[in-house]
Amino acid sequence: MKNKINYILKERKEKIILPEKLGFGQYFTDHMFEMDYSKDKGWHNATIKPLSEIYLHPATSFIHYGQTIFEGLKAFRTIDDEIQIFRPDTHLERLNNSAKRICMPAVDTEFVLEAMRELIAIDSDWIPNKRGEALYIRPFMFGSDPALGVRPSSEYKFIIILSPVGAYYPEGFKPVKILAQDDYVRAVRKGLGECKTAANYAASLLAANEAAKKGFTQVLWLDGVEQKYIEEVGTMNIFIHFKDEIATPKLTGSILPGVTRRSVIQLLKEWGLNVTERLISIREVIDAYDSGNLIGVFGTGTAAIISSVGLLSYKGKDMMINNGNVGELDLKLFNELTAIHYGEKEDTHNWTFKVEKKAIEV
Ligand SMILES: *Cc1c(COP(=O)(O)O)cnc(C)c1O
Repeated sequence: MKNKINYILKERKEKIILPEKLGFGQYFTDHMFEMDYSKDKGWHNATIKPLSEIYLHPATSFIHYGQTIFEGLKAFRTIDDEIQIFRPDTHLERLNNSAKRICMPAVDTEFVLEAMRELIAIDSDWIPNKRGEALYIRPFMFGSDPALGVRPSSEYKFIIILSPVGAYYPEGFKPVKILAQDDYVRAVRKGLGECKTAANYAASLLAANEAAKKGFTQVLWLDGVEQKYIEEVGTMNIFIHFKDEIATPKLTGSILPGVTRRSVIQLLKEWGLNVTERLISIREVIDAYDSGNLIGVFGTGTAAIISSVGLLSYKGKDMMINNGNVGELDLKLFNELTAIHYGEKEDTHNWTFKVEKKAIEV
């Protein structure tokens, strides 16, 4: 069955005025995309409609058993006032990988990309235009069977909502403090770590709270078996800049395969730098620090793009990295990626997908 999109559009009487301070995930545009899945009909009821509450039966399966996944990506208003989405194809491919791992149906990525573009076109007035600001896109899917019992749901809902977000670094690119700890683990190999599913974030909250109380921005997770190898940070992948190598933990199954990580690896390769994906023990990082071979540490993710690590702490040892300053390479990567996002630099990788403004008369 070929899907088509139904439109129920809101009548807009007033011009949209965005708040001065957008923050993250606080404001939403006035439309959403929604579709349903059932075993006999497949995906159906694809609709763009006014943003509204969703009403669920109290037994709805994902609330109890956690069958739910999401994606997070961004659309930008370029310096030429065009709108472009960064690597939506790669994000939707990852959505389908997440779906597969927890027995959820795949979506037709081309159709969903088309729906995403339509939704963004309709709500394009919500896309902020200051440098650093963006439209955050949150596609998600959940099991919607109104029945108890641990088994894959037979019905699902897929939704896309949009949120204008502020600059991650309103006061300029600043380094963060991270804590590597072994009191808790986020994910284990062969578990759900590589899947963007709710359980991983629930697993991370207590450690993140405790780290925050001690003044750290985020937690650096160690592997779930021996707590020996570094894995990733709360919502970012991690890169260790050694003297002769820029290394990032290889994807062993417990690490979320970040799209920013992938883009950064490609850029570093193109710049002729020695970038590797391998196991990196926390011990190796400490030894490099002690011997002066640790140049920098940075995180990568859609929200912050690049995050310089100024302080890394493990078992009471505080390692001040690059004197707590932003690394040169970190800044270069941040500038390169944002230049592509905002259309200042030609996108030679075909990473950006244009959105035709006002494809639909509102
Ligand atoms: C989303 C996410 C990342 C970063 O992925 P991007 O695709 O670069 O945004 C890294 N780690 C975790 C746990 C995440 O949820």
